Amino acid sequence: MSQVLQEITACIGQPVAGNPTQYVMEKAYAKAGLDWRYLTLEVPAAGLTDAVRGMRALGFRGFNCTRPHKCTVIPLLDGTTQAAGLTGAVNCVFREGEKLIGENTDGKGFVESLRTLIDPLGKRVVILGAGGAARAIAVELGLSHVSHLTIVNRSAERGQELASLVHEKLSVPTDFVAWNGDYAIPAEAEVLINGTSIGLFDSSARVPVDVNTHRAGRIVADVVFSPVDTRFLREARERGATTLDGLGMLVNQARLNFKIWTGVEPDAELMRDALEEYLCV
Ligand code: NDP
Repeated sequence: MSQVLQEITACIGQPVAGNPTQYVMEKAYAKAGLDWRYLTLEVPAAGLTDAVRGMRALGFRGFNCTRPHKCTVIPLLDGTTQAAGLTGAVNCVFREGEKLIGENTDGKGFVESLRTLIDPLGKRVVILGAGGAARAIAVELGLSHVSHLTIVNRSAERGQELASLVHEKLSVPTDFVAWNGDYAIPAEAEVLINGTSIGLFDSSARVPVDVNTHRAGRIVADVVFSPVDTRFLREARERGATTLDGLGMLVNQARLNFKIWTGVEPDAELMRDALEEYLCV
């Protein structure tokens, strides 16, 4: 009789720039003494249903979803957590008995990172962007009871939809601002987040904000993790803001996924070091 010697987890989707998560997870499994594996499996949209059925049959302990599966995977699962249900996107799937449950750890990862500098409870926050990352963050900040949220987005439809979701489902006063030209940051904003993809793999890319409206004491965060120190963060810091890079969010979501799947708290420092090593930062 054969014996299963290891548990399998995976990332399904279109991996960007290789897969830093695989590198980090396998190092963290080894450090925790777990004979687990993390695979990177490229799955086209048309193959998602079969892939999830295969994961069930093969007894995978869980998997991450990246583009283009974060939303379309939901009907193939047996349920979602509150955050994933509200966000309408899943980046982490885990087993509950025979059931596959979808979670969203992107927003939680960001908020954990933010908490190293400030408690979001009762704070006024501005989010630039309304795509997948911004949406997960907005929902998690709503669940963390920020006092006011402003969504700033180029596409009015996407931005308005997100603002309405947070306002109606989480009862957080939220407004939408259409993004035309340089955005003037309101003086009362305590936290400003770049939730767009501007700056990814481009250290000179400029997020259109009026840099003269930065101020000391404000926290300015970026979801972009490569480069780690983006132009957006550099310009804010030069004007006195305290900055938070996107690597913390990435490490935290990987840490949360690890804990959800294994029940074990991983070595977070080792995970950040492994990510920095992989990304050469
Ligand atoms: P999406 O494609 O879902 O959303 C992109 C967002 O950026 C949209 O709001 C889009 O606006 C906006 N945008 C893009 N280009 C411009 C531009 N030139 N001017 C104004 N707005 C622009 O992407 P994701 O949300 O999935 O990812 C966004 C970023 O977050 C990526 O860099 C990704 O790597 C990063 N990320 C980081 C994570 C981490 O752990 N640190 C986790 C997940 C993502 P519009 O709606 O108008 O198109």
